[in-house]
Amino acid sequence: MENQMFKEASSRLDKAFDFADINQEAIERLKYPKAELTVSLPIRKDDGSLEIFTGYRVHHNDARGPTKGGVRFHPNVSMDEIKTLSFWMTIKCAVVGIPFGGAKGGVTLDPKNLSRLEIERLSRCYIDRIANFIGPDVDILAPDVYTNPMIMGWMMDEYSKITRQYSPAVVTGKPIPLGGSMGREDATGRGGYYCIQELAKKKNWQPKEMRVAIQGFGNAGQHIAQLLYEDGYKIVAISDSQGGIYSSEGFDVPTIIQVKNTTRQIQAVYCKNTVCEFVEATKITNQELLELDIELLIPAALENQITKENAAQIKAPWIVEIANGPITVEAEAILAEKNISVVPDVLANAGGVLVSYFEWVQNKTGLYWTVEQVQLRMHEIMTREFLNVYQLMESQNIDMRNAAYIQALNRYAQAVIVQGTENYFSELG
Ligand code: GLU
Repeated sequence: MENQMFKEASSRLDKAFDFADINQEAIERLKYPKAELTVSLPIRKDDGSLEIFTGYRVHHNDARGPTKGGVRFHPNVSMDEIKTLSFWMTIKCAVVGIPFGGAKGGVTLDPKNLSRLEIERLSRCYIDRIANFIGPDVDILAPDVYTNPMIMGWMMDEYSKITRQYSPAVVTGKPIPLGGSMGREDATGRGGYYCIQELAKKKNWQPKEMRVAIQGFGNAGQHIAQLLYEDGYKIVAISDSQGGIYSSEGFDVPTIIQVKNTTRQIQAVYCKNTVCEFVEATKITNQELLELDIELLIPAALENQITKENAAQIKAPWIVEIANGPITVEAEAILAEKNISVVPDVLANAGGVLVSYFEWVQNKTGLYWTVEQVQLRMHEIMTREFLNVYQLMESQNIDMRNAAYIQALNRYAQAVIVQGTENYFSELG
């Protein structure tokens, strides 16, 4: 159904409304994205044939600043999905208090079917089509599912050519030599890791007693796995789009990352010095991974993974959403009944856009930071905002998603209210 996903996502606003310091008209505005653009992308393939792709870019809301959000290349991309993701970006930027609104973009395609040159042509063509809709002070792009720093570099270069001005601040997540920021590559995983560190203090978690499963082994999944592994957490299951592996002993994460990035496959390998051997591991499906008997579940792939069909089977008492929107609204109610707690996407994966903001600031000032400076500032903000949300959750006796939404809505409402609402204008009459 058209707009179903966006309607479902924005229905979460009505829940948070009762607790937030916001009026109805400010909430209503969030149910209507500011602007939506659909473009066609005619791409000359390497064999000489022409294929036409469809691309999207949505500005959700810019009350708090220029819009900001990633671009994904995936076969499931649709206008409804991009609108929903742009809405989450508005909330996410407000949760961590950075001066951006929300946006998102995407192209419907399977990148595995395109050559590197075809991907470059497509990335540049996408920018050609949306150039009037974006800009360093209008709408700023970033990586998302199946896009990476190199693609961001091409996009920035194309925009700079069109405007005849070097414009690094129009895209974040670029390679370092093209104006990228230190610490952006692992920022999404690291932000989630900082949330888990705070949670561990609150709940007295002992890493070696924590069995963790990670669904999705792209940029975010790999980095959070690595950071948790270094702290001694037991990573017992990992999957990618092809399926997953399980071992009650826990995996040697650095080796699995290395193998995944060279062979594009997840394999249970253990390496000591230069000797690598395959270890005992059970092959599992993505569904089985979600339902494992573990302490911490980290969905780091796509949206709508935990639904009303499988929510009752989830056993992990804690879920940290590194993917955007992995739990549907219906599933969330089932999880709540089972006393399963969720650190929501708009907080847990906000580290990515937070360091994107740092990159944008560095591009605008021309003064570049060290990785230590990036991580120090990131740690300070992620920890502060996590603890703010946690405190709201406890004081209002609500779940963490509602608390995060309230924090975001309060910040957003302040920007709307100072421009005048019905109360202000009706007094004039
Ligand atoms: N695509 C990432 C997200 O969903 C990063 C967005 C950005 O850095 O602007 O949060």
